[in-house]
Formats: sequence, structure tokens, C-alpha cells
Amino acid sequence: MTSVLSHEAKHSFALAQCQSDALLNRCSYVGRFAPSPTGPLHFGSLLTAVASYCDAKANHGKWLVRIEDTDIPRIYPNSETHILSCIDAFQFEPDAEIIFQKDRLEIYEEVLEQLKQAQLIYACQCTRKMLGSNHIYAGTCRNQHLHFEQQAIRLKVSNQMICFEDRLQAQQCSNLQNDLGDFVLKRRDDIISYQLAVVVDDYLQKITHVVRGADLLDNTVRQIWLGLLLDYPKLTYMHLPLAMNAQGQKLSKQNLAQALDINKASELLSAAILALGQPMVELDQPRIMLQQAIQQWDVERIPKGIYLNDIYQ
Ligand SMILES: [Zn+2]
Repeated sequence: MTSVLSHEAKHSFALAQCQSDALLNRCSYVGRFAPSPTGPLHFGSLLTAVASYCDAKANHGKWLVRIEDTDIPRIYPNSETHILSCIDAFQFEPDAEIIFQKDRLEIYEEVLEQLKQAQLIYACQCTRKMLGSNHIYAGTCRNQHLHFEQQAIRLKVSNQMICFEDRLQAQQCSNLQNDLGDFVLKRRDDIISYQLAVVVDDYLQKITHVVRGADLLDNTVRQIWLGLLLDYPKLTYMHLPLAMNAQGQKLSKQNLAQALDINKASELLSAAILALGQPMVELDQPRIMLQQAIQQWDVERIPKGIYLNDIYQ
């Protein structure tokens, strides 16, 4: 794993260079909004869309949209259509054609093959029952050299601290071996994991900056580790605080957060801009409101922490 560390050093130098160049607008910025169609978009999704859009545009960057639909059994009927109609109604303007991960399964399989050749993954036959309630995988199948067919595929992690500086949530560190164990990149039912698809597509789409909800904070170290093993460039992360419902739960598809009403796009946009701590914009067509929000965009004003206080939807 020493080669991984030297890559790490190389990338952190490149990143520091990129950040100082960014002040002079010489470093390119490519951001993205990457919803999963496991339910309709809600106010929390809108916060992510607005923040990723304004941050990209305020930095003269590109903003891409990617639909993360590899988990086919969890796809919710019509939610893909709802996502696309929201992009339209809120008048976001993606800088490239929207991509769908379910059309890209061969690409992820190629990367799995690359990891297999490098002996970084292995097949795991443990059932849910065998794994029990312990969330840390003990590496039971690591040295069993099982055939890959019809088994879960796990990525080896190592006993070292992985850290990153989040733009809002300060430094985050985790020892993957102690905190999580080898994690799944492909499930037994052939579903490509979120972790694998995200890392591969961020690389192929040349994403430089990730802006997303703090509920995904725990995934980031896993994604950084996979990116390091594949020798992909490092990304810059900003995890936004989460809006809650009146019961104090984070808005999510699981607790049935209300779907965004495309007939109230301007009002919802105004509420999202305020929730992000940004100066108010006048009610107008969404496109004009977004332009104003971009001009006034100030990351320093976004509330820090995991939850937005007093913002209920
Ligand atoms: Zn196992």
C-alpha cells in the first residue's frame, strides 16, 4: 500500500495548486447534481441542486446532472420523470446531456475487472444472517479465493487513516478497517453499488467539486479510498446541512418527504436560497432568481453543521 500513499502525496500537492489557481480563475470547476430516483425530489434535494448549481456557476464552472439509478429494485415509479421535470421547472441549465447510470453498467464492470486484476477485490459469500448486526465486516472471505459468480464483491481496505477537508464540515477522518471493514462494490443480485458508480462517473465526467447533503458524509472516505486505488484525481467536497421535517427528522424518501411541487418553483427556490443563508432574491422566473443567487453566492454564509436549525418542510 506504499504506492497508494505516494499517490496521495502527489494528489494533495496537485489539489493545493488547483485551489490557489482557483482564486485566479485558472483552475476549472466541474460540479454535479446526482439524484437517485428512489423517490420524488424533495426540499432537501432542492437545497443540493441550488447549492451545487450556484457554487459551480459562481466559480465559472460547469454543472452536470447524473441520475444514479443502478439500484433497480429501489427505483420508485415515475421519480425519474419527476426529477427531469423539476430540472426544467426550476430552470436549471445543465452544461452537458444528462447521463443515466443504468446505461453504463459495462463501464463499472470494466473497472471491477481492473480491480480484480490488481487483487483489490474478492468474492464474499457471507449471508446477511452470518454478518449479523455488526456493521464492521471482519474480512471473513478475504483469503478464501471464492469464484466471483453470484457472490457479493468486496473492496479491500487497509488499516490507515483517510482524511479530507470538507468546505463546511471541517476535517473528516476515518480508519476504514476499524470503522467499516472491506465494503461491497457489487451485490450478490448483480447490482453495482452506489460507491463504485459514483467514483467511476465522477472520474469519467471530470468532476472536480462535489456539493451534496451531509447524509452522504459517511460515504466520502470510502469513495476517496476507491479513488486512490484507481489513481483518480482527488475531489473537493462540501457537505450541506440537512433540512428537517416538523418532527425533527431529516427530509428523506424513507420518511416520505413531500415531493417538490413544480407549480411553486419560484416560491420553493426562494425558500431554498434563504435556507442556504444567502441574501434574498426577488420572486421572478426561476432562471432570473438563480442568476441573482449566483451573483450573490457566498459559501461563508451557508450554515455549518449537519442540520439546518429552524428550517422545516
Ligand atoms: Zn464474506
